[in-house]
Amino acid sequence: MQNPYENKRLGWLAKQAKQLASRLTLALPGTCPLCGTSCTGERFCPDCRNDILHSMQNHPYRCAHCCLALPNQAPCPDCREQALHTGRITVAFDYVHPLDSLVLRYKNGRQLDLAPAFAELLYQQLQLQDLLPLANTCLIPIPGSQQSLSRRGFNPAAEFAQQLGKKLQLPVEHFFLHRHDQHLKQSSLSRHARRAAAAGLYYCSRRLDIPHAILVDDIVTTCSTIDSAARALLAAGVQHVDVLAIARTPPKHF
Ligand SMILES: [Zn+2]
Ligand SMILES: [Zn+2]
Repeated sequence: MQNPYENKRLGWLAKQAKQLASRLTLALPGTCPLCGTSCTGERFCPDCRNDILHSMQNHPYRCAHCCLALPNQAPCPDCREQALHTGRITVAFDYVHPLDSLVLRYKNGRQLDLAPAFAELLYQQLQLQDLLPLANTCLIPIPGSQQSLSRRGFNPAAEFAQQLGKKLQLPVEHFFLHRHDQHLKQSSLSRHARRAAAAGLYYCSRRLDIPHAILVDDIVTTCSTIDSAARALLAAGVQHVDVLAIARTPPKHF
């Protein structure tokens, strides 16, 4: 008779082995994380990089403020439904296939070696849009919930901010912004529920009399999280808040 505990354990071991195998494949030095061809350093190969940059620069309808890829010339839903408290949002790429799976590997598969490649790509987006150099500012990662921190063992936004900080030569401030503990998982909520859940979620424990700060997130979906975080920074004294993120989720029907 099969032992249920043993079955569970074997299942767990198989899952670990699969995760390890997938991590080893992508951890090979000098391999493009998207197509697997050899290239120098922790970055995308020139072909993949150019494809991504081209798709971002040439999308016919993209909101100039929040970077949302739109299906037509209709007003941006995120900027129309809420007056955003952030300045410009810049992302490395749209959260669409096959790049979405890379972000999931980074976040859920703990492939932290992808963070430098994402940072490099975002750096190039900033360069193309003439938004460099950035100076007299700091990067502030969106704090994760206790629940996701203990599940993943790391905060994807914070790890990405570290790599971006190195690339942009900007300080990363991990203790300027805090998150109230709350047990709703954002990805399980509707657009409106996300907005309501995110309101008042973040706070600063002291005054921040600084002219400019840059919030750093992994995926920007409805802007409700970053808007709530920006409001906390502005209330603490920051004069202007921009946003940098790995990816931006296009509307569902797109
Ligand atoms: Zn490639
Ligand atoms: Zn917008």
